[in-house]
Amino acid sequence: MPTIDPESLSPAARVAALAEALPYVQRLAGQTLVVKYGGAAQVSPELSAAVTEDLVLLTAIGARVVLCHGGGPAVSEMGRRLGLESRFVDGLRVTDEETMRVAQQVQVGLISRDIVAALGRRGGRAVGLSGHDAGGWLRARPRQHRSQQTGEAVDLGRVGDIADVRPGILRGVLDAGMIPVVAPVAVDDDLRSLNVNADSVATAVAVALGAPRLIFLTDVDGIRGPDGDSRARLSAAELASWIDQGIVTGGMIPKARACLQAVDGGVRRVTVADGRVPHALLLELFTDRGVGTLVESA
Ligand code: ADP
Ligand code: MG
Repeated sequence: MPTIDPESLSPAARVAALAEALPYVQRLAGQTLVVKYGGAAQVSPELSAAVTEDLVLLTAIGARVVLCHGGGPAVSEMGRRLGLESRFVDGLRVTDEETMRVAQQVQVGLISRDIVAALGRRGGRAVGLSGHDAGGWLRARPRQHRSQQTGEAVDLGRVGDIADVRPGILRGVLDAGMIPVVAPVAVDDDLRSLNVNADSVATAVAVALGAPRLIFLTDVDGIRGPDGDSRARLSAAELASWIDQGIVTGGMIPKARACLQAVDGGVRRVTVADGRVPHALLLELFTDRGVGTLVESA
């Protein structure tokens, strides 16, 4: 685990660094932060440990932290092991009932539990939640898709788009000094599971809580532009044009859309940060420079 060499800092320097953190600590106390945890930070144990420590530290200084996690690659891997066939329509995966059961088992049964336990080992108190809890706090509606060939409606199965967040349960958990850990499983009107994109869950949660900050931890150094370099700051308008021009592709498309929705929804600081950097969260929150792209409304 990449920590500071104890020999490299004198006691005076350590204490000075801590003292300099005071204004940041004061600013963060009582502030709601929503963190989306995905990509590289989730696969390496060292980085997971650093993210875990950061979350517990932030909670200890009084920040109200919500963690939203993804799990796509682990779901695909389990599907392969179980011999489930993937079917695609216009490049979109069809989530049949069985695939949804597996997605739920992996995301709620494995990933969420592992994160809750890791936070617990560091002295954090976390509560794992999916959309079913508290009478169905995270609601979605089945995604509508029209075939690009025939124009007819195609059933994509148990895939949904967020329709409603009832944030009472999140507030309750936060008020108790605990960390809600949110899996990307929502429910429909009958409280049946729908798989949802974790980036859009994070945005919906941030907007519903009126959180001033939303941080997407991912496996790139920020949102990259036409020249291939990541930008420290980017306006929402420019990001929207990058989506249209195909400069943003793959997994960055839902993330970029989630950023735009968050900015639209009044989240003041929305960043895509490099989760491969140890303690990316603390760097993002305790320094002015940060480690990624800040998406701005103007
Ligand atoms: P996460 O697990 O964090 O949601 P994703 O794989 O879904 O990560 O999305 C991040 C990926 O998006 C990056 O690894 C990168 O390959 C891809 N990507 C596509 N376009 C861009 C872009 N313009 N800037 C940065 N990353 C991009
Ligand atoms: Mg993704």
